[in-house]
Amino acid sequence: MMPRPRAGIGLSRTLTLRLHLSQAQNVNVPSTAPLDAAVGVFNPIHPRALSHPPLPVRSPSPLLYNPRMEPAFVSPTALPRRPFCSPSKSTTNAACPRMAVASPRIDSNFWRLSDDEKRRAMTLPGQQSVNFHAHYAAFDNDDNSHYQLDDIVYRAKKGGLLEVEHDMEALAKYDPSQWRDLFDRRSGRTVWPYGSGVWSKKEWVLPSIPDEDVVSMFEGNSNLFWAERFGRELDMTDLWVKQCGNSHTGSFKDLGMTVLVSQVNHMIKKGADIKAVGCASTGDTSAALGAYCAAAGIPSIVFLPADKISTAQLVQPIANGSLVLSIDTDFDGCMKLIQQVVEEYPIYLANSMNSLRLEGQKTVSIEIAQQFDWNVPDWIVVPGGNLGNVYAFYKGFVMMRDLGLTSKLPRIAVAQAENANPLYLSYLENFESFEPVTAKQTYASAIQIGDPVSIHRAIRALRATDGVVEQASEEEIMDTAARADRTGMFNCPHTGVALAALEKLRRKQVISSDDRVVVVSTAHGLKFTESKVLYHEKKLPNCASRYANDVIRTPAKVGSVIDSIRAHLKF
Ligand SMILES: *Cc1c(COP(=O)(O)O)cnc(C)c1O
Repeated sequence: MMPRPRAGIGLSRTLTLRLHLSQAQNVNVPSTAPLDAAVGVFNPIHPRALSHPPLPVRSPSPLLYNPRMEPAFVSPTALPRRPFCSPSKSTTNAACPRMAVASPRIDSNFWRLSDDEKRRAMTLPGQQSVNFHAHYAAFDNDDNSHYQLDDIVYRAKKGGLLEVEHDMEALAKYDPSQWRDLFDRRSGRTVWPYGSGVWSKKEWVLPSIPDEDVVSMFEGNSNLFWAERFGRELDMTDLWVKQCGNSHTGSFKDLGMTVLVSQVNHMIKKGADIKAVGCASTGDTSAALGAYCAAAGIPSIVFLPADKISTAQLVQPIANGSLVLSIDTDFDGCMKLIQQVVEEYPIYLANSMNSLRLEGQKTVSIEIAQQFDWNVPDWIVVPGGNLGNVYAFYKGFVMMRDLGLTSKLPRIAVAQAENANPLYLSYLENFESFEPVTAKQTYASAIQIGDPVSIHRAIRALRATDGVVEQASEEEIMDTAARADRTGMFNCPHTGVALAALEKLRRKQVISSDDRVVVVSTAHGLKFTESKVLYHEKKLPNCASRYANDVIRTPAKVGSVIDSIRAHLKF
């Protein structure tokens, strides 16, 4: 029997609020440009992005380009060539910029190919003979321990965190344009598992896992919302919101969990002694773990701080059949408990101290660049709690730059709630010291963390990108989320933290009017409706609800209805 969890707000409330979470699954794929529409290829480029000048076409770097890779590739002969983008005529690149590395394989006849041919079209020429490989290495520079990805290990020899390290030399055997083309070609298509936004970058994520062991729900490929109106309110011309919450369980946690659960699935198939996968969570991690484990048929256990997560988050692992433990402590307390449990029992730890998850999350950076036609924005603004995500994004941008797909890193701004701001306090000291805090209650409950596991990862990312940290009060969080909602978004409080931080950084002129800025929305607003409802009812304590839009109760008489409309529209 499952212990009955305690919910802060009764589960029945879920029904009253009528959460249609399935809406969260409708990934809004940006509309396709005409060139690709003709061949039915998922085009990750937002049409607005096309108005920005494209990068000059660079010739392949002799260092990275290995011509020996070319002859091994045999293209399916049945395919007629597209008339204007003949791969043999490199001079046509200007007219057909998307075919810089010609691929005759994806065209209007793609659907005619056999499954084998389609699969071949989704790999690089000669790929079978290249051993893409990754292993765990210590994060700290003074520890040179490393381990296999099939080892069950969460910390390096000296106790620090681990890092998934890729064989960059093997990856560099391919030209940047070949990688760009491969990723563009795979995203959103049918060949398992490459249609997923995460697995379209499989060689950069978890290269050695067999395709059939992957546990995927076609996560990623989330839309990049052009925040035109909200941007104008902040005197900005190039503001975007990456909607990572438009995903199976409604948060970006899916991106990392698909990688972790796939690896666990692979290890179990190979005979590893893993009885279940467990995590401590502020809600979204447990929802993702529950879903991916259920899809794979692997038992899962979630440790949740009692009364500190939203109803929608709580019901997800319950519905997916996880063992749900509601524990009378906060997130940091749950984290300590689960670490003790996994030390003694064959339960695999799924928290973000497990570096596998970051490999999936880093694909957000790659997707963002892809959606800007392989340009890197000036700023990324991301809400931070346990601080794994900020490091994951940094890793993605570094990897793209090092392999030549892009030419710069964005500056990173981490946004924290004032009530849970240990990174902000450390930033004020130039990161020379760090003190954990006891996190106070915040509407941004998924970042109510006082002792972030990935603190050193975050500091490394911020130092390397000339990054900044900003904080926001509870009222600022709710006000900014509501104000941005009025321009067409539907923000969770964490996205509210990021938007409020953005507004402050604009006011301080740290971020300029014409900077291209991407705010990362980490969860779907429909997972966090309790505080939103109270905001619009003006029932939040210490909050004036300046952007409230309360329901107007109206009698069922046409005169009353018209009165209500006229009072509102003032005519
Ligand atoms: C987990 C989570 C975060 C924080 O991510 P970290 O990697 O812990 O910094 C932010 N927002 C939401 C909605 C989350 O679920």
